[in-house]
Amino acid sequence: MSKKKLGLNTICTHIGEIKDEQFKGAISPIYLSTSYEFDDVDVKRYPRYFNTPNQEFLAKKIAALEHTEAAMIFGSGMAAISHMFLAFLQKGDHIVVQNTLYGGTSNFIREEFHKYGIEYTFTNGYAVSDFEAAIQSNTKLIHIETPSNPLLTITDIKGVADLAKSKGIVTSIDNTFASPVNQNPLDFGIDIVMHSATKYLGGHSDILAGAVASTQEHIDRIWNVSKNLGGSLSDMTVWMLERSMKTLALRVKAQNKNAGKLAKFLNKHDDVSNVYYPGLKSHPQHELAKAQMHGFGGMLSFELAEGIDAMAFMKQLNLIKPSMSLAGVESTMLLPSETSHFLLTQEERDAVGISNQLIRFSVGIETFRDLKTDIAQAIINTKTTSFA
Ligand code: PLP
Repeated sequence: MSKKKLGLNTICTHIGEIKDEQFKGAISPIYLSTSYEFDDVDVKRYPRYFNTPNQEFLAKKIAALEHTEAAMIFGSGMAAISHMFLAFLQKGDHIVVQNTLYGGTSNFIREEFHKYGIEYTFTNGYAVSDFEAAIQSNTKLIHIETPSNPLLTITDIKGVADLAKSKGIVTSIDNTFASPVNQNPLDFGIDIVMHSATKYLGGHSDILAGAVASTQEHIDRIWNVSKNLGGSLSDMTVWMLERSMKTLALRVKAQNKNAGKLAKFLNKHDDVSNVYYPGLKSHPQHELAKAQMHGFGGMLSFELAEGIDAMAFMKQLNLIKPSMSLAGVESTMLLPSETSHFLLTQEERDAVGISNQLIRFSVGIETFRDLKTDIAQAIINTKTTSFA
């Protein structure tokens, strides 16, 4: 089967299946063995070597979805990102990272890199010129995240990839928010793509996992470090991830559709002052998003008008769950000022545009009408309760 000719849903369903030769079952068997017969190969099968049958085959699905040769699956998104960074950076090297980065990634850089003698610069913004300004003679890696969390800013993927290539610098991207259904950064010249598979790849809020996809050469380099660090995943979870990914495109497309409709609904709502969604024409980088994304994703943020207590609004929701994580089939909301950005001072939050009215919305696959009704009633009830 030529992978290039296969459609997205076929790749999700069939690439990386393990044929059950023994019993002819319809789905991939699980191989939980941590010990395999010794044979005459360079690398023996062993879970920490990322090469058990389930790991090896699921990696094919992820590589196919990201239009590349190889992939690796990790025990978490943070394992994927930390192992990747440590494979490409060593003492004396420098990395340029986008300022609006997932908090865990920023923490890893700020708290761990000095121990390894790795230098870093967070950009001042997310324009290509901001990345250019941060490059040093010892820069070895540029890392971006688009759409960003929680304000859904869009970074010019090709712009950054071209800049890096002209200077011989490797590039990586956190593609978690978009998922491979909505964005394939390697097509724009990025070298390595990573995911928190805990999010859209898993999609059911029941798997912690990570993934990295790239050329075989880059994956070999990451493997060489990862086998020492040991951030691999249990095969039980690998199997669950494979099962979840069969519906990846179906889920994400339903989430795109709901998010697009809800963004429009919120944008017109009198009690909502701002909506951040790359699919809206009013989004400052809407045209760029259109050029580099196949769909605008299931994540959006919005600000309730002054005077409507955001925490009280969250408590009035009946269907949408207040929840920390994202990308599950169920809709969830959180307040960045009370969660991801809680440790910042008010001034620091203001500087990065995180107001106390801001709500991050991970849109699920429920019926649009029910989500709309839940938000509308929660706004009305918050207002009624606070003005009573
Ligand atoms: N990248 C992004 C964009 C995330 O949102 C997260 C987690 O929330 C991570 C990476 C880290 O993933 P994990 O929690 O699977 O380690």
